[in-house]
Amino acid sequence: MDGHDHWLREIEPELDGELSLAARAALARHLVSCAHCAGARASHLEVRAALASAAGDRHARTFPQAPAVRTRTLAVLATVVLLAGAGLGWALHARWGGPGGGDLEASRAAIVVR
Ligand SMILES: [Zn+2]
Repeated sequence: MDGHDHWLREIEPELDGELSLAARAALARHLVSCAHCAGARASHLEVRAALASAAGDRHARTFPQAPAVRTRTLAVLATVVLLAGAGLGWALHARWGGPGGGDLEASRAAIVVR
């Protein structure tokens, strides 16, 4: 592309502290000579500062990350919700029965034309 794509992709990981020191140094060297990428990095920082301010922490030092939901936890929660729904459905069916109450014919709507 135009030579900036690689560096632009490095900005977010650099701000998250995920780059190695060598990669951070290479990015810093590029930012010194490239106003385009330096401006993009400044924009990323401004967005993060605005989000932190909107979240009530104007002096945040890091970008707040959403807590990661573990796959196992999500699977357990989904299973519990499904079992609770099935149990509730079974209990309600046992209490009040299914739709229509009696046989299928009694549950049909009657259209009378005169
Ligand atoms: Zn650049």
